[in-house]
Amino acid sequence: MIPTLAYAARDSHSPLSPYSFERRDPREDDVVIEIQYCGVCHSDIHQVRDEWGGSRFPMVPGHEIVGRVTKVGPKVKKFKVGDLAGVGCMVDSCRHCHSCEDGLEQFCENGFVGTYNSVEKDGKTPTQGGYSNNIVVRESFALRISPKLELAAVAPLLCAGITTYSPLRHWKAGPGKKVGVVGLGGLGHMGVKFARSFGAHVVLFTTSPGKVEDAKRLGAHEVVISKDPKQMNEHAGTFDFILDTVSGPHDLNAYIHLLKRDGTMTLVGLPDKPPELPAFGLVMQRKSLAGSLIGGIKETQEMLDYCADHGITSDIEMIPIQKINEAYERMMRSDVKYRFVIDLASLKQ
Ligand code: NAP
Ligand code: ZN
Repeated sequence: MIPTLAYAARDSHSPLSPYSFERRDPREDDVVIEIQYCGVCHSDIHQVRDEWGGSRFPMVPGHEIVGRVTKVGPKVKKFKVGDLAGVGCMVDSCRHCHSCEDGLEQFCENGFVGTYNSVEKDGKTPTQGGYSNNIVVRESFALRISPKLELAAVAPLLCAGITTYSPLRHWKAGPGKKVGVVGLGGLGHMGVKFARSFGAHVVLFTTSPGKVEDAKRLGAHEVVISKDPKQMNEHAGTFDFILDTVSGPHDLNAYIHLLKRDGTMTLVGLPDKPPELPAFGLVMQRKSLAGSLIGGIKETQEMLDYCADHGITSDIEMIPIQKINEAYERMMRSDVKYRFVIDLASLKQ
C-alpha cells in the first residue's frame, strides 16, 4: 500500500484538516501520480457540506489534479515514469455500456466512479481526491498534459475546463452565434475564454460589478450586471445559447427571456435548491433548457490539446493547503479570481 498525506473533511460542518490514509499498489494498468497541484471546484464545497446529499466521510476532495507519474503497472502504454499526467472528475466506469463505448464515460449507464466521494468498482473502497500528495488511477482515466503550459494553471482545465468546453462544442458556439455565460467564477471564466476562442460573440452576466473589467480582459465582448433589469432587457430575445455556471439559487426565467426562438440555455451549475420554472418562458418561442455534465475522457484530452495549441489556461490564485478553509469562505462570497489552486508541496511541511 502507498502512504498518502491529505486534507479531509470528517463531517459536513467541520473545517478540513490533515489526514493520512493508504492508496492501493498499482494494478497492471494503473499509474501512480505524485500530485503537484489541485484546483478547488465549487463541487468540492457542495459535497464537503453535503449539499447534494449522500456525502461519504472522511472525504478528501479535489478533482482537478496534475502531477508527475512516479510508477506504472506492466501493461501501461500511455505513460512512463516522469511524464506529466492529469486526473479529472472520474477514475473509472463500467467501460462496456453504450455511453462508455461512445467515449461518454460521464454518462456510464452503470455509474461512473467519481474521483472522490464515490466507491471503486470493487464495491467497497472509497475513492479519495486530489487534496493529497499522490493518486493511483487506471491509465485510461489519466490524461496527457503538455509541458508547454504552466502546470498549476492547467489543473482547473480538468473540471472547469471540460465542463464548459463540452457544452460549448455540443451546442456549436462559434462564429455568428451570440453566446451568454452566467457567473464569473471558475467555470464561468473558462466558458468566456472558450466561447471567445471558438469565435462566438460573448456576453458575460455577473452579479459582481467589480468583475466587469476582468470579464472583458478574459474575452467577453459585453458584460451585463444581472441585477439590473434595464441592462438585462436590452438583450431580450437575442441569444442563441446561454451557459449557466451559477452555484447558488437564482432566477432562470430572467435568462430564458433573453434566448431567441429555438435558443438553448444549458445548466452546468448545480445549486442545491430546485429552481422555479414557469412553462410559458419556454413554450412561447420553442426554447430549450438543458444540462451538461463534465465531458468524456476522449473530449477531455481533445480540450487539453486544444488549450496547449491555443495557449489557454485558467487564471489562478495559488494557495497552500493550510488556506483551504479560507478559500472556501471566499468562494462563498464570489471572491475568487478565478480559480484557487492548491500547491501540494505545502503538505510536506
Ligand atoms: P465558483 O468558482 O464559486 O463560481 C460561481 C459563480 O457564480 C460566482 O463567482 C458568482 O459569479 C456566481 N454566483 C454564485 N452564487 C450566485 C447566486 N446565488 N446568484 C447569482 N450568481 C451567483 O463555482 P464553480 O467552481 O465555477 O462551480 C459553479 C457550479 O458548477 C457549482 O454549482 C458546481 O458544483 C457546478 N459544477 C458542475 C459541473 C458539471 O459537470 N455540470 C462541473 C463542475 C462544477 P458572479 O460574481 O460573476 O456573479
Ligand atoms: Zn469540479
